[in-house]
Amino acid sequence: MKGKTIDKDMVMPAERVDFAESLLDWYDNNRRILPWREDPAPYHVWLSEIMLQQTRVEAVKRYYARFLETLPDIVSLAAAPEDTYLKLWEGLGYYSRVRNLHKGAVTVMEQYGGEMPHTSAELQRIPGIGPYTSAAIASIAFGERVPAVDGNLLRVFARLTAYAEDIKSDAAKKAATGFYQDVMDMAAGAAVPEPAGAETGASCASGRPVYDRPGDLNQALMDLGATVCLPNAQPVCDACPLRKQCLAHLQGRETDYPVMPAKKARKEEDLTVFLIHDAERIALRKRPPRGLLAGLYEFPNTPGHLTEDEALSYVRSIGFSPLHIRRLTDVKHIFTHKEWHMQGYEILADELAELHPDTKRSPGIFLAQIREIRDIYSVPSAFAAYSSLI
Ligand code: SF4
Repeated sequence: MKGKTIDKDMVMPAERVDFAESLLDWYDNNRRILPWREDPAPYHVWLSEIMLQQTRVEAVKRYYARFLETLPDIVSLAAAPEDTYLKLWEGLGYYSRVRNLHKGAVTVMEQYGGEMPHTSAELQRIPGIGPYTSAAIASIAFGERVPAVDGNLLRVFARLTAYAEDIKSDAAKKAATGFYQDVMDMAAGAAVPEPAGAETGASCASGRPVYDRPGDLNQALMDLGATVCLPNAQPVCDACPLRKQCLAHLQGRETDYPVMPAKKARKEEDLTVFLIHDAERIALRKRPPRGLLAGLYEFPNTPGHLTEDEALSYVRSIGFSPLHIRRLTDVKHIFTHKEWHMQGYEILADELAELHPDTKRSPGIFLAQIREIRDIYSVPSAFAAYSSLI
């Protein structure tokens, strides 16, 4: 791609003060009303930011409320059994996020007396809190001047500065972080007078300059990226408070940025999935403690696409006596790096005897009451098409 790479210093300091002013004024009038913003306690910011990784805001709202109802604070999360927080996460996917959240809560209880540290550097010592999440918590909950650079902020940066290098590179992240850090620092250092009649609230009451609002700056950029400077689409530049400073817009080349790396092909795997049941119970298996969908529950399955005869032999080999077999729909599930191509069979089995999970014939398989799949066992969304048939 031909594109002019702009050094961050090419955006003049004075413009960066304007930048913060324009952005915050826009935010004050257009901010999204989100439950975690109404009470930005550190735990709330932490939980919401972890949920928002890989999941849309609208979908997160109901999971967030449900999670807080059962585990309202760090104390309760740290003490919660694994099945409880996995069940609360069901449907959100990427379960390692909630495992790390739990580990983090235990660390906060054991090493910080139950109170989250206030700086992004210290927050990064907690398991599962990386540079982005620590910056979001530290800026929003504690007012630290630190940019929370996620995909939204990277995209906005790339367009603002017509950044012509791979946006997923470490260099891009560093450049974006430096750019936004300067914006925050200059907004904090600038003795910008309070506009007549403006309600600038806590920032003035606290004696801080009116645009020294790092948490709001981060959230304004998040909102701008989510609602105006859209990914994979034509951004709505007419509604953007930064259009006068945006190089991509001034060049009419908004959709040329960000520059993405070439995509790697996903690995494809074939699986045959079995819903083995009698009138009341169904066979389940717990997945291994590490790797994809670790520790969650699944229907017994085996690699490859089996014919009906092969499927019946397999079911017998794991200790069941099939009475009836029915072919189910094919399902494709896409993970970040792989795709599962599943075919399914429903097996009505002779009254299911108790299975010992350690027997060789049925490794790890146990019988659950059908209603327990809804209430107790977390079956990941990869199997949702089959769960919905129960
Ligand atoms: S002017 Fe357009 S391209 Fe530039 S930051 Fe705003 S929305 Fe994005």
